[in-house]
Amino acid sequence: MGSSDYTFETFFNVVNGECRSAFKFKYGTDPSTEKKLWDWPVATTNDVEEAVQSANDAFKVWSSTPIEERVEKISQWKESYKGYCENFTTLLMAECGKTRALAAGEANEVISLFDHHLQLRIPEERIEDDHRIITTRHVPVGVVAAICPWNFPVVLSMGKILAAVLSGCCIIVKPSPFTPYSALKLVELAQLFFPPGVIQVLGGEDFLGPALVSHPNIHKISFTGSSATGKKIMQSAAGTMKRVTLELGGNDPAIVFPNVDIENTASEVVQGCFVFSGQVCVAIKRVYVHEDIYQPFLDAMVKAASMIQVGEATNKSTTMGPMQNEMQRQRVQELIADTEVNGYTFALPPRSFESNSGYFLSPAIVDNPPENSRIVVEEQFGPIIPVLKWSNEADVISRANNTKSGLGASIWNSDATHAEQVGRQIQSGSVFINSWAKTTPRGMLSGHKESGIGGEWGSTGILHYCNVQVMHDFK
Ligand code: NAD
Repeated sequence: MGSSDYTFETFFNVVNGECRSAFKFKYGTDPSTEKKLWDWPVATTNDVEEAVQSANDAFKVWSSTPIEERVEKISQWKESYKGYCENFTTLLMAECGKTRALAAGEANEVISLFDHHLQLRIPEERIEDDHRIITTRHVPVGVVAAICPWNFPVVLSMGKILAAVLSGCCIIVKPSPFTPYSALKLVELAQLFFPPGVIQVLGGEDFLGPALVSHPNIHKISFTGSSATGKKIMQSAAGTMKRVTLELGGNDPAIVFPNVDIENTASEVVQGCFVFSGQVCVAIKRVYVHEDIYQPFLDAMVKAASMIQVGEATNKSTTMGPMQNEMQRQRVQELIADTEVNGYTFALPPRSFESNSGYFLSPAIVDNPPENSRIVVEEQFGPIIPVLKWSNEADVISRANNTKSGLGASIWNSDATHAEQVGRQIQSGSVFINSWAKTTPRGMLSGHKESGIGGEWGSTGILHYCNVQVMHDFK
């Protein structure tokens, strides 16, 4: 591929260094307009077999390529990517329905991911006693399949790709069929810098994910998506004893103490609930507010959420775009209907839209529904949020933990020491103090309980792409 062939209008699978079209195509839908986007090629079983073979062949050389050479190639890819940041921003706006600010934030976060991985090195430990030298090494696990969700197509696939190739693994990326375009383009660009088979991508139908998970010559699955799919993957991966990293769903609580600045905190909490229409794994999903400030805080949340401008992603005044897909919109509408049928009170009711096109939903806030209501118990992954009252600290911590999920949480308290004491009692992979979930590649993203196994990013995420080998060298 020459860089002059690299356009954002045509999309290919990449197998063995080759950009491949197909006999069968699918297309995505612009969530803002419901208009057809570009065709993307559907990979065949033959493509899968060739990609797996190519990855295993490439692994023999790539795994023993000195890390400084691998770093050099990643660095060249980064420089090239920087020149296309604007193209990726536009693509993300079209395929995800993200506002320009959100899409540009994601495209730029990829540069932070590059920078983070460029300075990472894989640790080796050497211990010597009277009889032997014990050297603990981390060796690349082999061929990895990255199975990705639709909400952050570039950031979530790049986190997997960079950790894999830096550690010496080869990787086959499977983007979500809802948002395949940007991952296809990322991997196509990588072909200018990496040997064939090191980074490949296959877009496909429902057979593709299970085919990768059960394939005997794939050695690890790095999956980000729902807990339901994660369980299926874990079950199927057991057949070949594959390593799995599972980054799954959440039901993140925010606990608000009575000593906060009400207006500012409510405005921040609202952002944490409704960012990308709530379609963020670590978005706030439940808000627990101390009874002493419950009503003014709820009023301030309603005021802040009412100012959100819902509209087409490309419209400059829009601050919240549409839902990414119709299925997800229907799921949220079901939760809205459940809230109505059960007679719970909307502090901010959802509004209807005049336009017949676009998967739009407006922010909605439910006033103190029961703890066992669906809107409290389930991951809504959309712009409807329950606000709940608390009075006793131990009790609210127990309510926050009373879930099968354990992905993220936030504690809002002007006494940071106290906030941290509370945060330590929360069963989740990430806890944000006086902030909604602002993740960074420097901090590991991982889930407790049914929110996942293993983790990615941070200084140790890369170790999940390695097996440990201990050399016992007797004197
Ligand atoms: P999903 O589980 O429906 O799909 C994710 C991917 O898995 C897609 O590529 C899909 O094609 C593939 N897939 C589906 N069934 C499969 C199977 N049986 N075997 C192998 N692959 C299969 O999830 P989604 O709707 O795309 O994403 C939303 C979910 O992802 C939410 O629950 C959200 O919380 C979670 N998520 C988690 C994180 C995190 O870091 N923990 C980040 C983003 C999203």
